[in-house]
Amino acid sequence: MVGERVVNQSGQPDRAPAVVSTASLSPSPAAAPPPDAIYDAPLARRYHRGQRLLSMGRALLAAAFTLAMVLTGYSTSLETVARRVSQSDYIVLLVFLLLFGALEGLLTFPLRVVSSHVLDRRYRLSNQSFGAWLWESSKGALVGAGVGIPLVLGLYGSLKAFGALWWAPVGGLVFLFTVALARLAPILIFPLFYTFEPVNDKGLRERLTALCERVGMPIQGVFVFNMSKTTKKANAAFTGLGRSKRIILADTLVANFTDEEIETVFAHELGHSKLGHLGVLLLAGFLSTFVGLAACAVAFDALLPLVGFPDRTAIAGLPLLGLLLSVYSVVTSPLVNMLSRSQELAADRYGVRLTGRPQDFVNALRKLASVNLAELQPPRLIEALFHSHPSLERRIQLIERSDQAP
Ligand SMILES: [Zn+2]
Repeated sequence: MVGERVVNQSGQPDRAPAVVSTASLSPSPAAAPPPDAIYDAPLARRYHRGQRLLSMGRALLAAAFTLAMVLTGYSTSLETVARRVSQSDYIVLLVFLLLFGALEGLLTFPLRVVSSHVLDRRYRLSNQSFGAWLWESSKGALVGAGVGIPLVLGLYGSLKAFGALWWAPVGGLVFLFTVALARLAPILIFPLFYTFEPVNDKGLRERLTALCERVGMPIQGVFVFNMSKTTKKANAAFTGLGRSKRIILADTLVANFTDEEIETVFAHELGHSKLGHLGVLLLAGFLSTFVGLAACAVAFDALLPLVGFPDRTAIAGLPLLGLLLSVYSVVTSPLVNMLSRSQELAADRYGVRLTGRPQDFVNALRKLASVNLAELQPPRLIEALFHSHPSLERRIQLIERSDQAP
């Protein structure tokens, strides 16, 4: 999590704010298609099965590459190459990571193209050209590097300075980064990918502002962003912490949904905010980060001698630490997802109570399923492991049931 709670209503695993779109002209409403009248369940199933296989394939390939590099000694050769560039360990580390990352990126590139470009085009979720996709992905990688490089340097400094307790300062650093990004991402990062404009429609704006006033929520504004230029998916999110809170609505949402439906979606987002969900997620992330780093530190120390590295500051051995951290995050993500799913249901209940319009919310969820090609009923195990949102079928059932309750 980049500190952002990007809340998609679709019931699919959240993806990063579909890191997309060029420095932009104004959104073209023509690009936003009308939602399909008929929801195609088999199509959605095929799409999601394909995406799951690809993402698992990518993770396994990356893990196998890391292990192979470390075990065969190629990682050490790469460090030797990097040492020709500079005397400074920190520069060597950056060059090493650049080379390592480039090799891994090349290896997994075809799978990335298929999962985030080819499939989305084939299933008519995206209208982006390959060039535009490549440009957006590169921008995303650069932003990732901008965030990741200070963290990696901090981690390496901590390994050198604090010995076996290196994980404690790193945990603190990660937490500070997360909180800072939650505040700054809406201001610094989102505009790199999207154009934000205040919502034009006076009726809609007043409707949403009135809702905020009813629950005593200070808000910086209601903005629409041009999601339509890269995807047909619709999304709504609540970004920022404290007083920098703002609501952002995808133009695909504004174009295709009635004001009543948008209000119910927005009320769900208000629920996340009023119920303090971001704070809970940050706290859970804080605990999970420290536990994870401590556990990985122990495993790292145990494994390093087995793969022939004398000490934990050996640069060529660091990819092993990266692999351990990835494994930790995969293993704990079902827990994070469980927390997230319970928050989603709580926000649903809050939103429906606030607006008193369950049917509009149900309609909105069905439309979202259609434009996002979400699986209405993913396999239960898949949902438990991978989904940050409960299945739409279950959400709709719960809303309808609570509507019938006295
Ligand atoms: Zn939500």
